[in-house]
Amino acid sequence: MKGCFEMFMFLGIISVLAFLVFTGMSIKSIFRPKLRNKKLYVALPLTFIMFCTFAFLDGGNDKTVNTTNKQVASKVEEKKAAILPVVAKPTTVKKEATLALGELKVHYIDVGQADSILVQQGTQNMLIDAGNNADDKLVVDYLNKQGVKKIDVLIGTHTDEDHIGGLDTVIKTFDIGKIYMPKAVSTTDTFKDVILAIKAKNMKISVPKVGEIFKIGNSECTIIAPNALTYGNDNNYSIITKLKFGNKSFIFMGDAEDISEGQILAKQLDISADVIKIGHHGSDTSTTQEFLDAVNPKYAVISVGKGNSYGHPTQLVMDRLKAKNIEVYRTDENGTVIATSNGEDISFNVKPASYNGFEEKVAVKNEATVVSKSVVVVVPKTVVKPTPKPSVKPKQTNSSVMVWLSATGTKYHSINNCGRMNPDNARQITLEEAKSGGYSPCSKCSPPQ
Ligand SMILES: [Zn+2]
Ligand SMILES: [Zn+2]
Repeated sequence: MKGCFEMFMFLGIISVLAFLVFTGMSIKSIFRPKLRNKKLYVALPLTFIMFCTFAFLDGGNDKTVNTTNKQVASKVEEKKAAILPVVAKPTTVKKEATLALGELKVHYIDVGQADSILVQQGTQNMLIDAGNNADDKLVVDYLNKQGVKKIDVLIGTHTDEDHIGGLDTVIKTFDIGKIYMPKAVSTTDTFKDVILAIKAKNMKISVPKVGEIFKIGNSECTIIAPNALTYGNDNNYSIITKLKFGNKSFIFMGDAEDISEGQILAKQLDISADVIKIGHHGSDTSTTQEFLDAVNPKYAVISVGKGNSYGHPTQLVMDRLKAKNIEVYRTDENGTVIATSNGEDISFNVKPASYNGFEEKVAVKNEATVVSKSVVVVVPKTVVKPTPKPSVKPKQTNSSVMVWLSATGTKYHSINNCGRMNPDNARQITLEEAKSGGYSPCSKCSPPQ
């Protein structure tokens, strides 16, 4: 209630002053008995009662003070101004608590069979991937609609077109803070366009280090992968980030597959998260049971194109999500998915989607059938697995894939610090050499076989 505090203070001080004056007089009267005045003994307790009454009214019920003391308040208004020129208003502690973190928005933009994720917190923005080449206008328009002027952190998870396709246009259009890309090259025009766009801005690519932390507003992002220098597959180079906002966490998997997941598990990195962006569009090459158990999410988001030719997402992955009662959001059914959080809760702009996936294609003699929700597609017998993404790199053979050996062990590893391995004593050899040397693959870090 406005003015109540000042009034209380004023009356309180008057009471205290009166109390002091009367006390002084009482003491005086003790030493000079002639002046003893009975009135003093009445005035003293009265002063106390007055003070206590105001204290009680103010603390107990503001409305009572308001109605019963309005006249008193108006009468003392002028005096109050003179006696109490500066009385600080009590600041509400509650307000400070609710100021807290603000709002986090994670937009899983519908770019069909591709990835593009916009993270917004406070005045800062992060963009993870920018869809296919043909999605560049869509992504730029979407960012403009969200009022994005600067992308503080831009991540190109790996060199595949469905992730860095629109990156060059994004770099040309927006003010960019920092660009993270894995230490991997590609011979594609898409990759060259991205490099040219970065050079044209006189910028440099930052190679992420596992454990590195950066902030987007009040949220904190940690780099989780890649954990090796070389992989036999583009997807495993994917930069994985975990974002923490208050008590809620999000993990963004890019297209990382089981090998990268195994390395993360072997390193025992903290990957627990409330929301997971499922790796590799729901392919069965990613989201192993062990990895999903370690993340233990409540929600999963899949960025995937309607009726795509890759058989994504697979029923195997959808069944794993369903078994753990994980709510699924997917761009092929929901369109753009937006998660909003205050650090304590997470809400979505759409209702959870289905657990419908593509049955794994089984190799048969003459033809393989792909069963989707309603369509049965007959594909030629040469295709026995979901069509692999057109690889932009010359296929790596065992002679170019590198693995790690410990000083004494009989296993080969995909990382130099798996389990109790001492990275200082570890050495790298080719997969071919490891195999011919009688080494067997480690079961923990899933090295190439
Ligand atoms: Zn990929
Ligand atoms: Zn992809």
